[in-house]
Amino acid sequence: MTDTPRSTNTPFPSHNNIVKEDKKWMRIALIAARETAAKGEVPVGAVLVKENKLISRGGNSPIGLHDPTAHAEIVVIRAGASILNNYRLPGTTLYVTLEPCIMCVGAMLHARINRLVYGTPDPKSGAISSVYNIGTDGLLNHNIKITGPVLENECSSVLKNFFSKKRKALKCIKEEKI
Ligand SMILES: [Zn+2]
Repeated sequence: MTDTPRSTNTPFPSHNNIVKEDKKWMRIALIAARETAAKGEVPVGAVLVKENKLISRGGNSPIGLHDPTAHAEIVVIRAGASILNNYRLPGTTLYVTLEPCIMCVGAMLHARINRLVYGTPDPKSGAISSVYNIGTDGLLNHNIKITGPVLENECSSVLKNFFSKKRKALKCIKEEKI
């Protein structure tokens, strides 16, 4: 039973090991997500924390930076590695408003990030529980401790509002053209 692929009917597994400070840091990631929306980017925000101190904060920026790898997680990993002057980030926790994709989980593994806290699952491309189980399946030499969903409604609302506004704007443009 455990070897069968996860079907869409299987409930999303929760990682409910939430600690006291998780909501506080996720709220800061949400601010970064909202700032990102204002720039026309898909609103995903992230923060990197070490010993309960903020190391870096950033938002999804592939359009603005002309960089397909500039997801929020990569932005905070790059900034954090530069600030800590180390290509490894042991003892850090990465908070992100949306479950990471395969690229971002890959970057977290390379960076040796200790813990990931995500806001809302991504059923289409989430790589820690939804589509894949990278970093938690024990197949690699580093595993990431996972916590989430945290502030799921707030994190998913930011995305839903963004896409709803985009659809409305698109509808207006189409109607004007007719
Ligand atoms: Zn990503």
